[in-house]
Order: sequence, then structure tokens, then C-alpha cells
Amino acid sequence: MTAIEVHQLYSQAFEQLKKGDYYIAWCTLERAELAIAAIMRNDADLYETVKDISFQIKRIQSIYPYKAFASTEILIKEQKCSICDSVRSIRNDCGHRVGYVYNGSLCANIVTNCELKSISIVTNPVHKYAVAFLNGSEGNSSDHYDYSILSALMKVWENPYKFWDYQITTKNSHPHLNFMLRL
Ligand SMILES: [Zn+2]
Repeated sequence: MTAIEVHQLYSQAFEQLKKGDYYIAWCTLERAELAIAAIMRNDADLYETVKDISFQIKRIQSIYPYKAFASTEILIKEQKCSICDSVRSIRNDCGHRVGYVYNGSLCANIVTNCELKSISIVTNPVHKYAVAFLNGSEGNSSDHYDYSILSALMKVWENPYKFWDYQITTKNSHPHLNFMLRL
């Protein structure tokens, strides 16, 4: 199911990129990336079937203009195991490990009590969705990023399963990005 989800998320992100919904597509790609990481931990053979998508996601992410992200410091006061619902603590170890599959369910921590301590601006975030946006005039966030490289790519990229790579060359002392479509 997770492998099918990876393909669905990847195709969905492609459609969002086509529509110019760049931040939404960025978040969808992160969800696909997290699903791929779960597959990698649990099933090496299955990972082979999504490996190409994994590399393609990294290439797409690398041409996004995002450079600043918010990183939150959260004090977790209580969290539960998603498999057996027991409260996790140093003394109480239920034996289920986060990120591994038990009877078909992925184990996660469910935070039931926490406190936000601080927010820092970082360049290499744990959560990619935490992109820093400027404040808009009505208190909402405004997207000030330049997506011209992505929009140029989406004009020529017709099929999400037609993978591509790029090369950076220098022409008249300016860097140029050349896309190469592959079959
Ligand atoms: Zn447990």
C-alpha cells in the first residue's frame, strides 16, 4: 500500500507543479519522500521499485528556491505508541520501534502533551514543509519566491515517468541550468 501511495503522491505532485501550485507540490513531494523512507527501512526489495522516483524527487527539490525554513524546538511531555497506545517513557518500553511495521501498521509516536519552546530559522530542516514565507498585508503568509526555473521545466516536462537530470554550465560568466530528458 505504501508503494502505491508513493506513486500516487508523486503523480499528484506532478499535477500540482503543472498547475503552478509549487508550495503544495513541495509538501506532497515530502510526503512521498517520507513514505519512501519507511519502505527503505522495512523492505529493501520493494525499495527497488520506488528508487527512481526517490532520485527524481531529490532532483525536483534541488531546483526549488527555498533556502530558509523554520525549525521548532518542542518539549514533549507525553507521547504514546501508535501500535499499543501505551505511554512511552524511559522505564516503560513497549518494544515497538518508530518507523517499523507491526502487523501491517507503521509505528509512530503520538504526542499527547507538548510545549513549544522556540522557533529557529535553519537551512537544513527536519520538516521540509516548514518553508519560511514573508508576512502578507493581511497577516497571512505571502509567497515571495521566484519559481522561474520550475516553471521553465514544467513547460517541457510532459510525463512524470519520463525522468530528467540537469547540468549547470557557465555561459558568459552566468550559470545556466540545462535540463536533459531521459527515457
Ligand atoms: Zn507499543
